[in-house]
Amino acid sequence: MKPMDKKNLDKFKKLLQATRAKIAGNLQHLEKDTLNTSQREAAGDLSGYSLHMADQATDNFDREFTLGLASTEQKVLNMVDVALRKIDDKGYGICETCKKAIPQKRLTAMPYTALCIKCQELEEKEPRQV
Ligand SMILES: [Zn+2]
Repeated sequence: MKPMDKKNLDKFKKLLQATRAKIAGNLQHLEKDTLNTSQREAAGDLSGYSLHMADQATDNFDREFTLGLASTEQKVLNMVDVALRKIDDKGYGICETCKKAIPQKRLTAMPYTALCIKCQELEEKEPRQV
């Protein structure tokens, strides 16, 4: 297995850094949203929807949805960081499970992936025990 050449590593490094910046921006935005809602509640400012239980339920749902979204983004962010470390270690682009090269087409679409399509599909069918 030959490692990816430097030109491609640089290309994916830039791609990963751009992805990282984008996700970090999204997360900041989500955190601000969640924080705003909590602060409003902490301040006892429920007057806006205390008379409307349905609205309040929607608000809670929105917040849970935002939190779920934030944790997904956080996971991707961690994967991006791992991938960036692999670029420095020259191990980038190698499937973690079967140790074969991940096709560049897949890496271009999902630069932070650690698995080739085959292993990813297997994993989705039978999640690894953590
Ligand atoms: Zn694989």
